[in-house]
Amino acid sequence: MDAIREQVGTERDGEAAAETERFVLVEARLRSAATPRLRRVINASGVILHTNLGRAPLSKAAVDALAQAAFYSNLELDLASGKRGERADLVRGALTSLFGTEAAFAVNNNAAAVLLALTALCKGREVIVSRGQLVEIGGSFRMPDVMRLSGARMVEVGTTNRTRAADFEAAITPRTAAILRVHTSNYRVTGFTESVSLEEMGKVARAAGVLLIDDLGSGASEAIGDEPTVAESVAQCDVVTFSGDKLLGGPQAGIVIGREEPVRRMARHPLARALRIDKLTLAALEATLLQRLSGHAADIPVERMLRATVDHVRRRVAMWSIKLDERGVPNRLVDGESAVGGGSLPGHGLPTVLLALAGPASRIAAALREGSPPVIARVEGGECCIDPRTILKGEDEDLLDAVEAAVKSIRR
Ligand SMILES: *Cc1c(COP(=O)(O)O)cnc(C)c1O
Repeated sequence: MDAIREQVGTERDGEAAAETERFVLVEARLRSAATPRLRRVINASGVILHTNLGRAPLSKAAVDALAQAAFYSNLELDLASGKRGERADLVRGALTSLFGTEAAFAVNNNAAAVLLALTALCKGREVIVSRGQLVEIGGSFRMPDVMRLSGARMVEVGTTNRTRAADFEAAITPRTAAILRVHTSNYRVTGFTESVSLEEMGKVARAAGVLLIDDLGSGASEAIGDEPTVAESVAQCDVVTFSGDKLLGGPQAGIVIGREEPVRRMARHPLARALRIDKLTLAALEATLLQRLSGHAADIPVERMLRATVDHVRRRVAMWSIKLDERGVPNRLVDGESAVGGGSLPGHGLPTVLLALAGPASRIAAALREGSPPVIARVEGGECCIDPRTILKGEDEDLLDAVEAAVKSIRR
C-alpha cells in the first residue's frame, strides 16, 4: 500500500506514468523496501579502522565463530557440570593469558567499560584527571560528561599543555578514589608540553593508596609509532580498558583487564548487566583472541593491513592498473598515505600506492558509492583514488567490476 501511495504521490506531483510502467515502478519501490539498509561495502579509503564503515573487518575465524553462536550455544552453561555458567568466563582465560593480568572481562564497548569503571569504582568520590586529557572521542563521548553520568566528581589538574606529577599529588584528598589516565588517542598536543608518564602516575597513585585507571581506548598491542602499549599500562595500572576492534582487530567490545579486586567489583556491579557483551560479539572476540594467542595474528585483517609493505601494495595495485587499462578505464598510480583511523595514531600515516582514476573526481566517487557493492573511495589532489591497503583479500574482482561500471556510467 505504501509503495502504491508513494508512486501515486510522485505522479501527482510530476508526470503520470504509463500503466505498464507504473507496475514496474511500484515493484522497484517494493524491492528497495525489502533490501537491507545495512550493506557490505568495499573500503577503498585507505583508513583501516574507518568509524563510518564499522571500524575493524573481522577475520574469517571470527565470522565463522559468530555464525555458530547465532544458533543455540553454551553461552551461560557450564558443559562439564551442567550448571549455570558465566558468559564472561568464556574469554577470561584468553584475555589474562594474552595480557598477563590477574583478571579480565568484556562489555559492550569501551565507552561502556569506562562508564562502568568510574561508576563501580569511583561513584560519590573524586577522580583526578589531567586537563590535557579531557578528550572527546566522537559521537559525544566526552570525558567530563561520562564522569558526571557515573556519579564521580572530576578533579581537573594541570593545564591543556602541561601537567606534572606534583599536580596529581597536590589534588589527592581523603575523598580521592582514583587517578584516571585517558589516552589522547585521536589528537596530540605538541610544542611547549609536559605530561606525566604512566610510571610516575603509578608511583603517585600507589603512594596515596588510590586506584590508577587507564582509558587506553586504542593504543597498540605491539609498539608502533608513539602509541602506548597494553603492556606499559598493565605494568602500572589497576584497571585498563580498551576497544576490542581498535586494539585487537576484533569486534567492537570493551575489554577490561587488571587486578582481581577492582575488576571483580566492576563485573559484579548492576550496571555491568546493562552493558554486557552480546553473544555474537563474544564469539567473534573469543575467536580473535585465540588467533592472537596461537600466533595467527597475521590472519586478522587489520593486522594484515597494518603490516602490508609498500612493495606488496604496489604489486597488487599495478596489476589492477593494467587490468583497468585493458577495460578502457584510464588511471595512474600515485604515492600516498593510508591512515590507521578510529582516532588511532594521529599523524602516523602508512606509505601506500593509490590508483587514481581519470575523470571528474567527486562524480566518480558518488557513482562508486551508488554501485553494487558500494565502493568508498577517497578524493585526493582532485582525483578519485582507490587505496589498496584496505581492500580485503578476495575483493579484487568485485572492486575492478565496480570501478569499471562507475567510470563508464559517468561517460554515458
Ligand atoms: C575509542 C575510544 C573510546 C570509546 O571506545 P568505543 O569502543 O568506541 O566505545 C574511549 N576512550 C578512548 C581513549 C578511545 O580511543
